[in-house]
Amino acid sequence: TRYFVDHRKVRVVGGQGGGGGHSFYSEPRKIFGGPDGGNGGDGGHVILKADQQMKSLASVLPFYQGFRGERGGSKNCYGANGAYVYVKVPVGTLVKEDGKVVADLTQHGEEYVAAYGGAGGKGNRFFLSNENRAPTLFTPGEPGQERVLHLELKTTAHAGLVGFPNAGKSSLLRAISRAKPAVAAYPFTTLNPHVGIVHYQDYEQVAVADIPGLIKGAHQNRGLGMAFLRHIERCRFLLYVVDLSVSQPWIQLQDLKYELEQYKKGLSERPCVVIGNKIDVAQSRINLPLLKEQIDDRVIALSALTGDNLEELLLHLRELYDAYVKTEQSRGQSPIKW
Ligand code: GDP
Repeated sequence: TRYFVDHRKVRVVGGQGGGGGHSFYSEPRKIFGGPDGGNGGDGGHVILKADQQMKSLASVLPFYQGFRGERGGSKNCYGANGAYVYVKVPVGTLVKEDGKVVADLTQHGEEYVAAYGGAGGKGNRFFLSNENRAPTLFTPGEPGQERVLHLELKTTAHAGLVGFPNAGKSSLLRAISRAKPAVAAYPFTTLNPHVGIVHYQDYEQVAVADIPGLIKGAHQNRGLGMAFLRHIERCRFLLYVVDLSVSQPWIQLQDLKYELEQYKKGLSERPCVVIGNKIDVAQSRINLPLLKEQIDDRVIALSALTGDNLEELLLHLRELYDAYVKTEQSRGQSPIKW
């Protein structure tokens, strides 16, 4: 199963700078050759790097330490700088410190220095002057910068399944992709958004996210509220899933749109389609025409359980995806690919 870990707290510490060297040159007939301790190397940075291949923050560890700089040696040898530690994060990762956004990695290959390595110390050669021909002073390397950062990833699936608990979102995602989210007849079957990939014959892939936990009052942070609304924000189009077997299914749709709109204006106006699920239940067949009367959006009635009419959804999903790719290209931007 591919699921999203969308929050990570990481402590990053830059490498310690290498200490300065302390030595005096000496050889036969040149016994007092003068100071020749080289400077220490700088500690390595810890760098966050956006990588297209990464799809979640799951592989990010809680702690990273940069490499130390080497000590300065005799014969004026400088210590080597510590190597950089690269932490691969998905494109679209937001970096926050104390609640403030410090970086937004939106391009493949973009880098952000999370913690600078400490500067290397000075060797005693550095302190040579006319006043002091034999300095014994040398300085230690400085410690690396230390920070605690919050990484945040907003789901970048193309489509989001938006619906109240038990509407059948997980079942639907299972039916159209190879994702294996848990399915159960109680609310909150899934706590993480799952992403399933729908494969088409021409090798195009559309990512669909099951966004769980949306309930009435979610925008006021009821239930798991905001945490999930945040995922919806980045989906390019929305698939509203309503349970046709309950009476007045259009109320569900109004409530859903209301929640989205309260969270962020304009969110409920994304390209969308309404999926009437559980058409296999007798009551649904009565409710379907009533729903169609009540709303203007296109309604696709299907059953995630029996697989009835899934083709219509898959075809329409592709249309939405193609439209999205076209608009992105006409704006000169590259569409998200999986
Ligand atoms: P979610 O909370 O929206 O992810 O809903 P689930 O996918 O976990 O489904 C909730 C319940 O509805 C489960 O017991 C499913 O078996 C059932 N269910 C889902 N789709 C259908 C359907 O098309 N027909 C029927 N009869 N039941 C369904």
